[in-house]
Amino acid sequence: MPNLTNHNHKTDNQPFGVDGAHGAMLTIDPHALANNYLTLKSQLRANTRCAAVVKANAYGVGLEIAAKAFYDAGARDFFVALPQEGAVLRKLYQDVRIFVLAGLLPGMSPFYRQLNLIAVLNSISEVEEQAAFAVNNNITKLAVALQFDSGMKRLGMSEAEAHILSTQSHFLEHFDLQLVMSHLACADMPQDRMNQTQLSNFRQLSQLFPKTPHSLANSSGIFLGADYHFDLVRPGIALYGGNPTPGLKNPMQPVASIHAEVLQIQHLEVGQSVGYGATWQARKPTQVATVSTGYADGYLRSASTSSQRTRGPLAYLKGKYVPIIGRVSMDVLAIDISEFSNGHIKRGDLVELLGKHVLVDELAQGCGTISYEILTGLGQRYQRRTGQL
Ligand SMILES: *Cc1c(COP(=O)(O)O)cnc(C)c1O
Repeated sequence: MPNLTNHNHKTDNQPFGVDGAHGAMLTIDPHALANNYLTLKSQLRANTRCAAVVKANAYGVGLEIAAKAFYDAGARDFFVALPQEGAVLRKLYQDVRIFVLAGLLPGMSPFYRQLNLIAVLNSISEVEEQAAFAVNNNITKLAVALQFDSGMKRLGMSEAEAHILSTQSHFLEHFDLQLVMSHLACADMPQDRMNQTQLSNFRQLSQLFPKTPHSLANSSGIFLGADYHFDLVRPGIALYGGNPTPGLKNPMQPVASIHAEVLQIQHLEVGQSVGYGATWQARKPTQVATVSTGYADGYLRSASTSSQRTRGPLAYLKGKYVPIIGRVSMDVLAIDISEFSNGHIKRGDLVELLGKHVLVDELAQGCGTISYEILTGLGQRYQRRTGQL
């Protein structure tokens, strides 16, 4: 029997190797997750709570690892998108509040109740359904949150509905109101006037529920200033290393890295091409490394380059940045390693595709997308490990 897990792929200057059966490794750094939580928390007044948004498997990095890092750093309020995500989190932690952003899915009140999930009620119809559930089950005070639309027009009740709710207390008397919230559409663009407009709309709305804690800010919203913080903030992407202040230095630490193995070295003569469609042609003799990660791993095909589109994302290898060339295929991609002397790069060497040197926002930009999509699209077949990046 060959030993599948213990092949020695380590090269002299690599601190670790990919285990023999995988071509690439995804490392998640729990300390970086915790540090990011504490960095955000340090922006807040002492009595403002810092929740952690852990929807979509904690933005792709892994719910269990992320929730533990935030919990150990002091987080006791978590947001998920869906009740099923809440159920997974509830198994891990019993003494935390779990808010479900999708709201109350039809007929699901008993499920929320059983797992102690707090529905973020987004419409009057959800309010009615949840209130009826409380009445029919003799629940005197059912924990819920209310979301109001302050301008984004995605989820949440209108100002008119807020007035109806706050005056017609026959609904509210069945509820233990945990939070009144809204969401910003343009928080990552601090100059956008929409932020001011939403802030003043939210102030008016939330004044209708003066005794309930209020929440408006996502990651970027925290950096719009203390006016936006209210009683609780809801960062997601910044916890995972995305830059909440685009255009300025990223105050967050990267939390995820991808290291992929070199499978083979190719030598191209002038005029020869690399990859599907033969889109990238060598203008000078070129040394190419074929690397074990592709779009099936979440390395987006939109990172592909050609003789027309020459600027894609960079990779990092033995102290140098190198370009992605040609089309990204399902399982592999190509990098131009002509900068290195012949023989310097070898089969089994590890290429950083994401991490300390290739920041998630830069990779995203090279793929024509945002950090959120890169992280939530991380593939399932990496060797996953925790540790320093
Ligand atoms: C996803 C989400 C967040 C977190 O947003 P980030 O931009 O990732 O910080 C906060 N609030 C709501 C309602 C969300 O849907």
